[in-house]
Amino acid sequence: MYGYGFYYDRTYILLVIGMLLSVAASAKLKSTFAKYRSVRNASGLTGEQAARRILQAAGITDVQVRAVSGSLTDHYDPRTKTVNLSQDIFGQSSLAAVGVAAHECGHAIQHAIHYAPLEIRSAIVPLANFGSTLSWPLFFLGLIMSFRPLITAGIVMFSLAVLFQLVTLPVEINASSRALRMLETTGILGREENAGARKVLTAAALTYVAALASSILQLFRLIILAGGRRNDD
Ligand SMILES: [Zn+2]
Repeated sequence: MYGYGFYYDRTYILLVIGMLLSVAASAKLKSTFAKYRSVRNASGLTGEQAARRILQAAGITDVQVRAVSGSLTDHYDPRTKTVNLSQDIFGQSSLAAVGVAAHECGHAIQHAIHYAPLEIRSAIVPLANFGSTLSWPLFFLGLIMSFRPLITAGIVMFSLAVLFQLVTLPVEINASSRALRMLETTGILGREENAGARKVLTAAALTYVAALASSILQLFRLIILAGGRRNDD
């Protein structure tokens, strides 16, 4: 691997920046969540009750609300049509609980109305998984063998994973804006309470922004490494 060391060292900073962004975003989410998990909402509704009320108000009758184990493991599963809420969310009456529950209902609504970014996202999941598994092996093999088509294939594969994260952003932001609207129109939260729920959902969205930024930095790194390889030829 002689001759590449210079590029490896310099581009490593991109990985470190990406990692720091992700760590900062996840710390921000944890602290915001901890804060609003202890603020009880005035309606006294739990995450489960809020989810049921929102789904009903949206005219969705075929989606179940379930409890799942873990922390921040909340998600909507389009295959089973279930809103899955973690222990902190399902049975709690905090601002964070109804905020997160409403967000997952936002995904259920997106699914019901065939929201385009969600459909695109679901369609590229297999491609993205394939791409992120194969990108680094192909890329490094290409570098070692000095075989440019493999290097390029590695970069293209990695781009698929970045594309997936890019499409994830509008899906997440849209689910949160639907959530906040529904929380207010269904009377679950008052305007001031809604501001607290918004902070939790914004902090959650930032983790997706950080993940995307980190992946774009990694993509830059691959391109720089590939360019360095070309200069060596
Ligand atoms: Zn989401």
